[in-house]
Amino acid sequence: MQPGMLPEPVTRFAPSPTGLLHLGHAFSALTAWSRPGVCLLRIEDIDRPRCRPEFETAIFEDLRWLGLRWPEPVLRQSDRMEAYAAALARLIALGACYPCRCTRAEIRAALSAPQEGVASDIYPGTCRGRPMAAAGPGDAIRLDIARAQALAGPLQFTETGPLYPGQHVADASALGDVVLARRDIGTSYHIAVVVDDAAQGITEVVRGVDLFEVTPLHRLLQALLELSAPSYHHHRLIRDDLGRRLAKRDDARAIRRFRADGASPTEVAALVGITLPG
Ligand code: GLU
Repeated sequence: MQPGMLPEPVTRFAPSPTGLLHLGHAFSALTAWSRPGVCLLRIEDIDRPRCRPEFETAIFEDLRWLGLRWPEPVLRQSDRMEAYAAALARLIALGACYPCRCTRAEIRAALSAPQEGVASDIYPGTCRGRPMAAAGPGDAIRLDIARAQALAGPLQFTETGPLYPGQHVADASALGDVVLARRDIGTSYHIAVVVDDAAQGITEVVRGVDLFEVTPLHRLLQALLELSAPSYHHHRLIRDDLGRRLAKRDDARAIRRFRADGASPTEVAALVGITLPG
């Protein structure tokens, strides 16, 4: 499907086939499909060892059972590694990246050192400034966030969701020097998501509010890669009875458990506060 050929807004639902879809996914999917225009389905499977074909099949089945349909072919991120590598190469050519050889244990130790003050999980910058020419095969690639933001200049993003509507300053500095290419898979969610949102002509990203804080980074990568910038609609998260956000391990909340127990799509939608038409 060529970007620009679809009725707008074009949004998407982008699950990872690492487990069964649960009520939180049902809410996200129904929210995305309730927008006017068209909703695309994307399978986010860059983390191959954690993904299973049977979970991908279950995603299709559960979404169809909910009454949702999408244009084919479905984009699968594992088919797009070359596009992600090209985007990374561009960021490297801009001088916005450096190779990082720190292990998790080293980063943890640096962060808990007394002189660092309050512990945080922001990368302390140990490898910042290492030249790309010094990159070893086992290195991760990080974005030098200060340099990247200086290159891009001031940025904003538009939020259309009900939680934080309006224009937001896109300042990603609080995230620190994030990993753009993991040493195990050579890319990252952040690269894949901006490259694919642009390639699919997405005009409005509907997703959980847990990703609101990384949106400034996505806006920054879009600017550096000269990609189109969609608007964002971050929705509330579905929580369990103890107020914890649902995770893939919450099989009791899996859509297919409700199906097996005889619930209808309308009843499952009602559990997350959505009234299905008809
Ligand atoms: N693949 C992500 C997830 O399953 C969604 C990322 C996004 O919508 O940007 O949570």
